[in-house]
Amino acid sequence: MHAQPKASHFVDGRYVEDTAGQEITCIFPATGAAIATVYSATPAIIERALASAARAQREWASFAPVERGRVLRRAAGIIRERNEELSQLETLDTGKPIQETRVADATSGAEALEYFGGLAATLTGETIPLGGDFAYTLREPLGVCVGIGAWNYPTQIACWKAAPALACGNAMVFKPSETTPLCALKLAEIFVEAGAPAGLFNVVQGYGDVGAALATHPRTDKVSLTGSVPTGRKVYAAAAEGIRHVTMELGGKSPLIIFEDADIENAVSAAINANFYSTGQICSNGTRVFVHKSIEEQFIARIAERSTKAAIGDPREDTTQIGPLISRAQHEKVLDYIEIGKSEGARLVFGGGIPQGHEGKGFYVEPTLFSGVTDDMRIAREEIFGPVLSVLTFETEDEVLARANATDFGLAAGVFTKDLTRAHRMMAALEAGTCWINTYNLTPVEMPFGGVKRSGVGRENARAAIEHYSQLKSVYVAMGDVEAPF
Ligand code: NAD
Repeated sequence: MHAQPKASHFVDGRYVEDTAGQEITCIFPATGAAIATVYSATPAIIERALASAARAQREWASFAPVERGRVLRRAAGIIRERNEELSQLETLDTGKPIQETRVADATSGAEALEYFGGLAATLTGETIPLGGDFAYTLREPLGVCVGIGAWNYPTQIACWKAAPALACGNAMVFKPSETTPLCALKLAEIFVEAGAPAGLFNVVQGYGDVGAALATHPRTDKVSLTGSVPTGRKVYAAAAEGIRHVTMELGGKSPLIIFEDADIENAVSAAINANFYSTGQICSNGTRVFVHKSIEEQFIARIAERSTKAAIGDPREDTTQIGPLISRAQHEKVLDYIEIGKSEGARLVFGGGIPQGHEGKGFYVEPTLFSGVTDDMRIAREEIFGPVLSVLTFETEDEVLARANATDFGLAAGVFTKDLTRAHRMMAALEAGTCWINTYNLTPVEMPFGGVKRSGVGRENARAAIEHYSQLKSVYVAMGDVEAPF
C-alpha cells in the first residue's frame, strides 16, 4: 500500500519537487506504516508559489464572475465523479473509516464549490443615493490568500477556504497539515482540470515554520487558519504585523445540554456523533455533555449499550465505524487524558483503553465515557480531540447555562429539549458561534460556521464567508460643482 504523490508541491499549475526541504513521512494511522514521503517547502518554493498566485490572481479577477463560478462548479463535478478514489485517499491520509469519508469529505468539499460557484456571479457592491451626488461600492478581492489546514478534514478544510476565496476573485496558497499532506494536492490537480489559471490554487507542504513564512510574507493579503488556539494566537499575531485579514477557525470544548424532557434516543445519537464520529477528532464536538440529573442513569445506560457495539477496525473496510486516531502523538495525548480523568476522580463507565487486537498496531483508542465529571477537572476544561465523552449533571437551566459558558472557548453548543421557548432562550444566551437545537454537528455549507471567544474570528461557509474574502471600495461621485472655503 502506498499513496506517494507525483511530487511534494503543486505550484503554478503543476507538480514541483525540491528534496532540499525537511522530509515529512506520511503514516497510515491504522498500521503505523509509511505510505508516502514529501518534503517541506524551501524558501524558493514558497516564493514561487506566492509569485504564481499573484500572477494568476490578476488573470482570474478579470474573468467574468459567471465564468469563475463555472470553473468552481466544474471542479465540484470532477470531485463528485472521483469521490471513491478521493475518499480512499482521505482514508489513507487520516485513518477515518471509508464509510465516513465517502459521505463527509470530498462530497462536502464539492458542496462548498457548488455553493460558492453559484454565488460568484451575484457578488456586487451597492449604489448609495446622497441627494444630488451618489456613491457606489465595488466588492473587490483581497488578493493572495494563504490557507493553513488542520489534519482532521484535509479535503473539506481546503475546499471551505478555497471555494469562497476563489469565488471572490482571490488566489490561494494552501499549506496542509504536515500530518495529512496528500488530499489537497488532488484538489490542486482538479482545479487545473476544471479550467482555473495555473497558479490560482497552489499547495506547499511543511511544518509550522512554512505556515509562519507564508503568514508573514509581504505578498500575502489574508491568512485563514484552521488549527488549535495556541497556533491561532501565533498566526493572528504574525498576520497583524502586516495588518493582514484573518479567519481563525480554532478549537473548542463545547457543551451539549440535555434537558429532562429531551427525546433520549435522539440525544444519545447526537452525543455519539458529537464525541465518537471521526474518532472524536472534530473541533466543534460537544465533549461536555450536561445531562439533567433525573435522566442521567437512563442516558448513560443507553449510550453505553450503543457505543460498546461500535465496529472498531481497519478504516478501509466498509463495515468499520471507528478508526484510529491520526498519529502516535495524538494517541499518547488521548491516553494521557484518560489517565488524567481517572486520577481526577471521574468514573470510567466504558472504554478507556486500546481496543482488543489493536495493541501496538495503529493508533486506536476505544470510545470512552466518564461520568461524575466536575467543571474543574482538566478533562472538562481542555480540548482532548479524541473519543472521550464527559458526562456532567445539572439541575436548573440557569445553572447549566452559567456552567456551559464558563470556558474561554466558544465554538459550538447544542441543546436537547422539547420546550420551544427554553430552546430559544438558551440559543440567545449560549456563548458559542455555531449552535444546534435537537441535533448536533450538522454543518451545511448554507449555514455560517465559526467560533466566538478564543475559538476564532471570522466565519466560513454561507454568504458570511464572502465578507472575509472580499473588501469594499467606496466611490463618491460628484454631480455638481466643488465648494471650497476660499
Ligand atoms: P495545529 O494548530 O497544531 O496546526 C494547524 C496548522 O497550523 C498546521 O498546518 C500546522 O503546520 C500549522 N502551524 C503550526 N504552527 C504554525 C505557525 N507558527 N505559523 C503558521 N502555521 C503554523 O492544529 P492540528 O493539531 O493540526 O489540528 C487540531 C486543532 O485544530 C484542534 O484544536 C481543533 O479544534 C482545530 N480545528 C478547528 C476547526 C474549526 O473549524 N474551528 C476545524 C478543525 C480543527
